[in-house]
Amino acid sequence: MIPQQSHSQTAYEVVIGVEVHAQLRTQSKMFCGCGTTFGLSANSQTCPVCLGLPGSLPVINKAAVEMAVRAGLALNCRIGEHNRFARKHYFYPDLPKGYQISQYEAPICEQGWIDIAAGEASKRVRIKRAHLEEDAGKNIHGAGAGVSVVDFNRAGTPLLEIVTEPDMRSADEVVAYLRSLRDILMYLGVCDGNMEEGSFRCEPNLSLRPAGQQEFGTKVELKNINSFKFVKDAIDYEIKRQTKVLSQGGTIQQETRLWNLERGETAVMRSKEEAHDYRYFPDPDLIHLKLEREWIEGFQGGLPELPAIRADRFVEQYGLPEYDAAVLTATKDMADYFEAAIQLFNQPKTVSNWVMGELSRELKTSGTTVDRSPVSPHRLVNLLEMVEKGTISLKVARDIFPEMYRSGQAPEQIVQEKGLTQVSDEDALATIIDDILASNPAQVAQFKEGKQQVLGYLVGQAMKVSGGKANPGKVNELLKRKLG
Ligand SMILES: [Zn+2]
Repeated sequence: MIPQQSHSQTAYEVVIGVEVHAQLRTQSKMFCGCGTTFGLSANSQTCPVCLGLPGSLPVINKAAVEMAVRAGLALNCRIGEHNRFARKHYFYPDLPKGYQISQYEAPICEQGWIDIAAGEASKRVRIKRAHLEEDAGKNIHGAGAGVSVVDFNRAGTPLLEIVTEPDMRSADEVVAYLRSLRDILMYLGVCDGNMEEGSFRCEPNLSLRPAGQQEFGTKVELKNINSFKFVKDAIDYEIKRQTKVLSQGGTIQQETRLWNLERGETAVMRSKEEAHDYRYFPDPDLIHLKLEREWIEGFQGGLPELPAIRADRFVEQYGLPEYDAAVLTATKDMADYFEAAIQLFNQPKTVSNWVMGELSRELKTSGTTVDRSPVSPHRLVNLLEMVEKGTISLKVARDIFPEMYRSGQAPEQIVQEKGLTQVSDEDALATIIDDILASNPAQVAQFKEGKQQVLGYLVGQAMKVSGGKANPGKVNELLKRKLG
């Protein structure tokens, strides 16, 4: 992407890399037995290890290592057999030990990639590394007059930090990458993907360079972004800001900037540290973690069908358009819902339309996820079968769906209670049609003069009078007969 031309007519290219901190869905923390439940009362999930008390010793959580290996395999990474944990030193009140246990020289995953949708085409984003580390606690400011407090419940929670190469060139590509990555981790069940609760945090870093230049410009890291919309807004803002600075002859400072949601702009948080500022060294309290090659490879066969592959299969197996396949496989639960319905009612495109249309609309309005949908795949299929058999019209089906959703009732029950069964009986329809013809003499005359399109209007009128219950095929047929 080439952003705006500057006053001096220099065009800049934006170069973006992304760091993601994904919280792993383990039962216990990275180096101790404390729980990882979100939202419990402050400091209720702590022990001497995660509080950093003297004399306590960390122990590596095997489940976290397994999750990192599975994620690494799904991200096409090389899994390191020789793992070291390192201490990353910095001082902050939410970090009681004065260092964070992370991985530096020997990360568990390296040199992977994922393909993302970039406009019409797909683009490969390289993953430089993914390493295990522990989370810090949380400072809470303004808890009382002039007082800040610390909650260590989150301290020691396992994170997988996933770092890309600087391969992205626009905010849209970054969002596409983040969506794909989040989908993959959620499919694997290693991260719940909840951005508001901080389970999936993204920190883009970006720099500008004159178009055509190989050398990178100075990069700025963006923090405090907890939705895909804010990712896009923050990057677009930062591109404009840096373009302006550079085109006025200024220089960009290497720094970390926070996205300020209220003001819609980024502001300096701190100047960026270099790796040597952290004085990394191997943690002497932890063993050198050696993973057996067979143990690693054992996970390969157990990986679930990932979103991109499942989308391809939906196109191939069900003949769905690529758009439908991408929407339906965006989450595992949605794809599972679709396939459960298809097992019962083998009309993929019809089911896809209902899932992407009516069902998604209700889910969105009520803020519900598809795994909690009050309309099960079975119920949806009941409704589609009623249309298929001609018991109700498509219009009635669409009308009663919101009620099925709200009440949890079966479609048969709603149709029966409301008397919505489709009218296909010719005598009953003939009465309606005679009325329509009598009250629309002008249209009848136009039809007889050869204006075929008037027929659609008359069918519409008949449907309206019948409250959507008339069988439109039959109405069409009878109208033609009577007008003919
Ligand atoms: Zn603990």
